[in-house]
Amino acid sequence: MIAQIIVDIAAKQTDRIFEYHVPDELDEVEIGSRVFVPFGSRKLQGFVVGLSEKSQYQGQLKDLLLVVDEMPPLTNELVDLSKALAKRVFSYRISILKTMLPRVMRANYRKVLTPVSDQAKALPFFQGDPIDLTKVTDNREIAYIRKLLRNDEAKVEYIVENRAKVKTENVYSLPLAQKDYLAFYEELRSNAVKQKQLLTFVIQHYDEFPLKQTLIEKQAEINTATLTSAVNKGWLRKDRAEIYRDPLAGFATATKNHHQVVLNDNQTAALAQITPAIENKKAQTFLLEGITGSGKTEVYLNAISKTLALGKNALMLVPEISLTPQMVEQVKDRFGDQIAVLHSGLSEGELYDEWRRIRRGEVRVVVGARSAVFAPLTNIGLIVIDEEHESSYKQEDNPRYHARDVAIWRSKYNSCPLVLGSATPSLSSRARAQKGVYQLLLLPQRANNKKLPEVHLVDLKQADFAGNQLDLSVQLVKAIEDRLARHEQIILMLNRRGFANFMLCRECGYVMKCPNCDLSLTMHKDTHQMQCHYCGYSTSIPRECPNCKSSRIRFLGTGTQKVLEELNELLPEAKVLRMDVDTTRRKGAYKNILDAFGNHEADILLGTQMIAKGLDFPNVTLVGVVNADTGLWVPDYNASERTFELLTQVAGRAGRAEKTGEVIIQTFNPDHYAIKLAKKQDYEHFYAYEMRVRHAGNYPPYFYTVLISVASKNEQNAAREAFRIKKQLQSHLHSETIILGPTPSAISRLKNQYYYQILVKYKKEDNLNNLLHQIQDSAQKVKKYGLNIYIDNEPERIM
Ligand code: ADP
Ligand code: ZN
Ligand code: ZN
Repeated sequence: MIAQIIVDIAAKQTDRIFEYHVPDELDEVEIGSRVFVPFGSRKLQGFVVGLSEKSQYQGQLKDLLLVVDEMPPLTNELVDLSKALAKRVFSYRISILKTMLPRVMRANYRKVLTPVSDQAKALPFFQGDPIDLTKVTDNREIAYIRKLLRNDEAKVEYIVENRAKVKTENVYSLPLAQKDYLAFYEELRSNAVKQKQLLTFVIQHYDEFPLKQTLIEKQAEINTATLTSAVNKGWLRKDRAEIYRDPLAGFATATKNHHQVVLNDNQTAALAQITPAIENKKAQTFLLEGITGSGKTEVYLNAISKTLALGKNALMLVPEISLTPQMVEQVKDRFGDQIAVLHSGLSEGELYDEWRRIRRGEVRVVVGARSAVFAPLTNIGLIVIDEEHESSYKQEDNPRYHARDVAIWRSKYNSCPLVLGSATPSLSSRARAQKGVYQLLLLPQRANNKKLPEVHLVDLKQADFAGNQLDLSVQLVKAIEDRLARHEQIILMLNRRGFANFMLCRECGYVMKCPNCDLSLTMHKDTHQMQCHYCGYSTSIPRECPNCKSSRIRFLGTGTQKVLEELNELLPEAKVLRMDVDTTRRKGAYKNILDAFGNHEADILLGTQMIAKGLDFPNVTLVGVVNADTGLWVPDYNASERTFELLTQVAGRAGRAEKTGEVIIQTFNPDHYAIKLAKKQDYEHFYAYEMRVRHAGNYPPYFYTVLISVASKNEQNAAREAFRIKKQLQSHLHSETIILGPTPSAISRLKNQYYYQILVKYKKEDNLNNLLHQIQDSAQKVKKYGLNIYIDNEPERIM
């Protein structure tokens, strides 16, 4: 048999199939298997993407060396998907295949020096073991190694390491009959308390064995020493058994008596459209447009139940930030042990275990963030994407895929419906629904018939401020005081972390910037640092201007840390929880903060956009937006869309239960259409208006877009290469196609790389795909000269 392999080198020359002969002893190999193959002088990992009886190749094929896993990690579907996706996102197929696996399964290569001759093996330098070459830095050692290599005393080898570890636990079984244990018990001395305890437990639970060590220790109230002595006596037998790490251990398990919500008319009507597509295995895409609190989740969960009842499995994607304990709890409550959860909050081990449960067919429902779209789930009968407008569904680095596109592909492959849900659908999805490509389903009312909260704008140009800072208006602080008096809760959003956004010198105008990036440094008061939020560079907070030594320096652009300080000053009795990237780095921090707020251990939840979505706290009656303009003027065509979406989403956190809600939005731009329409929470008018803006500006969804970025440490080189690419494009594309740039990117330097970009806007271009693949290929050639070229198909960000 012949195996077709994609090897683990991301390069143009290796971005193709290599054939290997399958030796008889490796006949367990399947499509999707991970294998080791000889490649030149190296040993590499590869993926089997095909098997055949014969090869066209004339010469002698090399043998496969090893099949890594018992069960191939990738399904046939995923192998096919990798091929289709590589073409679409201009990535090498191996990069896609590796993206599909949990991080721990991506191979690690270590370069080592092994002694060859007996003489070399005896050298004190080796001490019998290979040397890890990545750790050798001493020049004398390097020279010595060169000499060994020249004289064939040693050779360089690559060791492929598998970091994926299966977790095991001790398990005890009973080798003897129940009556034997009774006999032992009778013989025990009366002071052998622990042994009596153990034997009592064994006799009572005889039929339940084998049991895990942790369970026996806990229930019999004995320790490991007692178990060990029982093993030595021949009472127990000890084995190791594989166990899964359970990321949901802290969550309530399925309660059979969870209250069954009766769907309202709108929900019923939406479900009535989706159900036939599930039953008839139709690859149809639905756009469920439902205002915040309209009960979209209930529709998803009911559709999933229908899917499971038909013997099919379901995949549900949610944005990372709405993988809140609240959401997970709801799904877990409904489907219990049948679900697996995948997101970046899990440890590598937990992720690996969840992934294996899916691959082994032990779960029926997968809930996860972006990369869960590659879950090795089979027999899929429904795919759901909640908050489909979220830009986090697009991966920002290679491979630059959009989970929505992948989901559409999988929906076709599995002949099953895809449900996209949002209160503020992406313009492109809403436009497709307009054209009938997707089917539009509307939930225009809140599920509990409550009105949407009333929204007030505060014009920061004319506002009176509470305290002596210019951040919190009297109106907002009054409203907060009002809720505090009534023991209701408040959510405050400011989409900017840190204390202050930048340092400005009043004397000379100097702004403190990152030495590696064209970005100002953010002041973090708690860690006493100026930080770059892009590359992580940090330095101490200056006392005087680093440029002119003046002491007249100011820290401007309020962040969450500063608002927290102001709240503590203005409302000392209010308890405030801050939630942003800085307070949620530790595992579990996220859940702790939300649990505390849910238990009313705090009055105010202050945070960045992290708190804008998905949260459902019935006691929250006021939402305040400290500054609505943080994203409004970023130089990107979709800045208005992002702003409208964020404001509408956060406003939707207020007044979700019995009590009526209010929203106060502070802005310098009360007349901007995105803010005016967010005040009315009027998505449909926003859609209509924004579509006209996009039409006038020749932007998506009227045009398709591709962004080509060129980066280099040397600014001229980046510009020159960008102009060369533009010429190449111009000579091959239609005259109606718009090619913008090259221009320096809005942030022209990041991590010491200068960025130039070209934006291609087109309606139909048969040549473009070919051209972009040529550019991708040429990217590898110019890489030697320190030039990096990135191609982003349908970018979410053009800046
Ligand atoms: P969305 O995701 O659309 O913002 P949710 O799914 O979070 O809305 O639902 C909002 C609230 O309404 C939740 O507390 C949910 O339990 C409740 N809810 C959903 N459907 C119904 C229903 N048919 N009757 C009563 N309450 C409902
Ligand atoms: Zn200065
Ligand atoms: Zn930086």
